[in-house]
Amino acid sequence: MRIDILTLFPDMCRAVYGESILGRAIAKGMIEVHARNIRDYTLDKHNRVDDTPYGGGMGMLMQAQPIYDCFGALCEELGARPHLIYLSAQGALLTQRRARELAAMPNIALLCGHYEGVDERVLRAIVDEEISIGDYVLTGGELPALVLTDCVARMVPGVLPNEEAYARESHYGGLLEHPQYTKPYEWNGMRVPDVLISGHHANIEAWKRRESLRRTLERRPDLLENAELTAEDARILAQLRETQEDPA
Ligand code: SAM
Repeated sequence: MRIDILTLFPDMCRAVYGESILGRAIAKGMIEVHARNIRDYTLDKHNRVDDTPYGGGMGMLMQAQPIYDCFGALCEELGARPHLIYLSAQGALLTQRRARELAAMPNIALLCGHYEGVDERVLRAIVDEEISIGDYVLTGGELPALVLTDCVARMVPGVLPNEEAYARESHYGGLLEHPQYTKPYEWNGMRVPDVLISGHHANIEAWKRRESLRRTLERRPDLLENAELTAEDARILAQLRETQEDPA
């Protein structure tokens, strides 16, 4: 898979995706990530990429031409048109499900806005989808693009050791993950639950599923509506609900 980030701050992006698990996956050729500087495509003799908004208002807007030409150059280089996502506070909220779908695409491009945003006409002309990483506003689309890149990349085959590494985590199957423990067995007077050191595989799996259901019910009951649940899960949930304290 290949991800191209269109940005005014390519070094900021490279500094993040060049490190850690993602950096190693790129070095091994499991995934390609590139950052392209939108400013390189401006036709303005002073290298400007922004201007004041029509109708007044605060701040500057990114102009259409450099973005349009930057994306055009990418399409030409790839010999194909990648799915283009504009990171935007006005987009649909990023979910694990959408990230999973994007991870199955061979090539996506991410457009990062800056300043007060982007001229609406270029968004209409080339953008396929708008994605937000939360109901708050950041100064630019670089951090959201890196969040999306990280979330998508770790589900690309070969980036993590195996599918189990992410398929059991929070949100993948619609639930939150169960609590986890590592050595030492006893720390600060607190012990690891006995079942986890029992060596009984089936009991350990049952405990993990129950605790995952419990945690989701306690912290994010809204997720249960769309989670993939078995009849046994439904039985456990009914039991857990019975033992939940009534709000006073
Ligand atoms: N004027 C815009 C508005 O009110 O919707 C906000 C512009 S914001 C200051 C600058 C850029 O940051 C946006 O163009 C977008 O690319 C990015 N951005 C800000 N918040 C974001 C969020 N929650 N999710 C994704 N991108 C975001």
